[in-house]
Amino acid sequence: MKRIAVLTSGGDAPGMNACIRAVVLTAEHYNIEVIGYRHGYNGLLNQEYKVMSRDSVGNIMQAGGTVLRSARCLEFKTEAAAIKAAQNLDELEIEALLVIGGDGSFKGADHLSKFWDKQIIALPGTIDNDINGTDATIGYFTAIETALSSIDKVRDTADAFERIFLVEVMGRHAGFIGLSAAVSSGADQVLLPEIHNDSVKALQTIVGHIETARKIRGNTSYIVVVAENLWPGGVTALAQVLTERIKTDCRPVILGHVQRGGSPVTQDRLLATKLGAYAVEAAMAGKTNIMVGERNYKLVDVPLTETWANRKELDPYLVKIQTELFDITQSQLAKQLAD
Ligand code: ADP
Repeated sequence: MKRIAVLTSGGDAPGMNACIRAVVLTAEHYNIEVIGYRHGYNGLLNQEYKVMSRDSVGNIMQAGGTVLRSARCLEFKTEAAAIKAAQNLDELEIEALLVIGGDGSFKGADHLSKFWDKQIIALPGTIDNDINGTDATIGYFTAIETALSSIDKVRDTADAFERIFLVEVMGRHAGFIGLSAAVSSGADQVLLPEIHNDSVKALQTIVGHIETARKIRGNTSYIVVVAENLWPGGVTALAQVLTERIKTDCRPVILGHVQRGGSPVTQDRLLATKLGAYAVEAAMAGKTNIMVGERNYKLVDVPLTETWANRKELDPYLVKIQTELFDITQSQLAKQLAD
């Protein structure tokens, strides 16, 4: 194998740079040249690339974002775009393409594979962790850390004023960041798409929960972590409805894009490094149309289409801890109050 290409696509995630670095260093070890396409699939269509070397990946491990830049590319969904991309890859004599991104980018890779007969390896890079077949995705751990440190700060001010706060975290349509951040921050309640898909019931649950908690504890601070895209209009709209229902001021906080940035934490750097190196070796071994991932500390190859075929499950024990074992409304005290 003489030449491979790498790109980052879709939502950026901390650790993408560590992954690019691992790809380049591993390829150099095996005397393979690496072409870095810029701006996701746009770079493939415009032949916008740079030849990568040890120098171009020096000192990037600790940086968030991606030195190759990321982007969305609607045009890539067309047949004409995939054919053009295949021609461009062949023109540069690329033998394998490594795509670092989320499930949208994986669908793009699958689309390309129908028009290009060389190898495609996908690497899970998204803060949402919503990719089946790997325990975690690159960027997920840093995003939880960022959400967590903000929720801890919200808790300080909430405590001082005995206020109710609704904190919206990212995750696209998955509750991984929400659940992990809620458990780690000791949030009183969490609303997740996997559990609370009916907004009328979700509202009843929160109202009942706050009222019971306040009966038991009095007026203390109260934090609800809410996954994005769960409530129509987000936490701002939910806080308004809730304020009217319980006749107490509820404050919304949207953490937003800060969760995408920042220096990657150790777990993301290690995962990115392992997957980047392993993807190059997988390409050398002739593998194609797979995602490389890690399950139970073992590197694995997952057929690309399987990564989005089934919804990835939340950790059921963490759900039990948050919604049963540690939930004040499930306590003996709450049961006595109800009797
Ligand atoms: P992520 O990879 O973070 O999930 P997106 O869902 O925005 O991000 O997808 C990134 C890019 O992948 C899109 O802008 C598009 O170029 C490509 N893509 C997504 N879905 C498809 C598809 N069905 N066919 C072809 N390309 C796709």
